[in-house]
Amino acid sequence: MLTYYCPQCWSEVAANERVCPHCGYPLDEFRQQAFEDKLLAALHHTLPERRIMAAQILGNLKSERALPEFIKIIEGNEEDYFFLRAVLLAVVKIPHPDRIKILQRASQHPSRLVSDLAKELLVDLNEGHVNVQRWDRHTG
Ligand SMILES: [Zn+2]
Repeated sequence: MLTYYCPQCWSEVAANERVCPHCGYPLDEFRQQAFEDKLLAALHHTLPERRIMAAQILGNLKSERALPEFIKIIEGNEEDYFFLRAVLLAVVKIPHPDRIKILQRASQHPSRLVSDLAKELLVDLNEGHVNVQRWDRHTG
């Protein structure tokens, strides 16, 4: 059996405890953040499927911490269209004002497939009818 410790007061805590019974530390939030950290690291995984999956989950979690990473990926040397596509679809799911800026940058992407997708998503966002399910269906 694994033993868990509160990261604030170092008391032993049950694995499913939401809040530390000793000091009130929000363990749930901590776990969520640790999970997010792993996903953010997985964006640079050597296996493309892992990178794609990490981007998708970060989008579903509406992770604002992922946005700066997504900008770097879009503006970097990434050439895997399926990964870039997963990143753009994740950006759309994160309700943060920066997402428009990120899509605008992506619409200047050297890959025609990426720039066209970004433009389509921008039109959808501007018209207020982003249907993420519609895009998800085309993923992978
Ligand atoms: Zn504690």
